[in-house]
Amino acid sequence: MSAVPEILAALATGSVEIVDLTAPLSADTPTLVLPDPFSNLIDFSIEEVSAYNEPGPFWKHHNIHTGEHIGTHIDAPIHWISGKDGKDVSQIAPERLIGPAVVLDFTAQTETDPDFLIDVEHLVAWQEEHGPFPANSWLLFRTGWEQYGHDKQAFLNLDENGSHTPGFTAECAKWIAEELAISGIGVETVGIDAGNAAVLEPPFPMHYFLLGADKYGITSLKNLGKLPAHGALIVVAPLPVVGGTGAPTRVLAMVGKN
Ligand code: MN
Repeated sequence: MSAVPEILAALATGSVEIVDLTAPLSADTPTLVLPDPFSNLIDFSIEEVSAYNEPGPFWKHHNIHTGEHIGTHIDAPIHWISGKDGKDVSQIAPERLIGPAVVLDFTAQTETDPDFLIDVEHLVAWQEEHGPFPANSWLLFRTGWEQYGHDKQAFLNLDENGSHTPGFTAECAKWIAEELAISGIGVETVGIDAGNAAVLEPPFPMHYFLLGADKYGITSLKNLGKLPAHGALIVVAPLPVVGGTGAPTRVLAMVGKN
């Protein structure tokens, strides 16, 4: 028995809908800004090589220039020192890239507190309401941050004390990495840690624990409000860059409609 014909039939009738969780990628895509003395990646840009003209009379094509960690993208284990002996982005098993999606909603908390940190108790409460996180699932954290995706200043929310965007406590990051049999997490913000996570112990704890445990992180997601708390299927499709620490990623969800 194959389930694929059932899925195809549901797509044909519209009883299963595809939701694109990916932010469009352009030179305007907001990107992480590290303070001195650290080095930053280049922003995304597109460069014309020909456009149905002398360099290519019948075709149009471009070079693209980009850092790995730009826009909607995945972090592979080798991105962080804790995962330096782990997988690059081309080595992530495809079975880990398709699975159940669960959505946890923190829009109310982050609206009043942009530095809000998600803690273990919030995940425990979700499981008490909805049941255990499924094996191989992706935990998607909705914060409403996608509303700022068109505005770099608002998206990074920088002031003299750093960036103010929501994230996770160190305890929560460790618990997710070590206690849950999931594939990874996804967030709406520019990175998988809070804007001010440099001051946590360890610094950037979600990067440290998650990537060190062969789990993966995706950022700059949108349309999480179109997903149910559980029951959706997610497809995470990074470019398989050999040796890459991350890559721009198309992220799609399949959602059943009632
Ligand atoms: Mn990244």
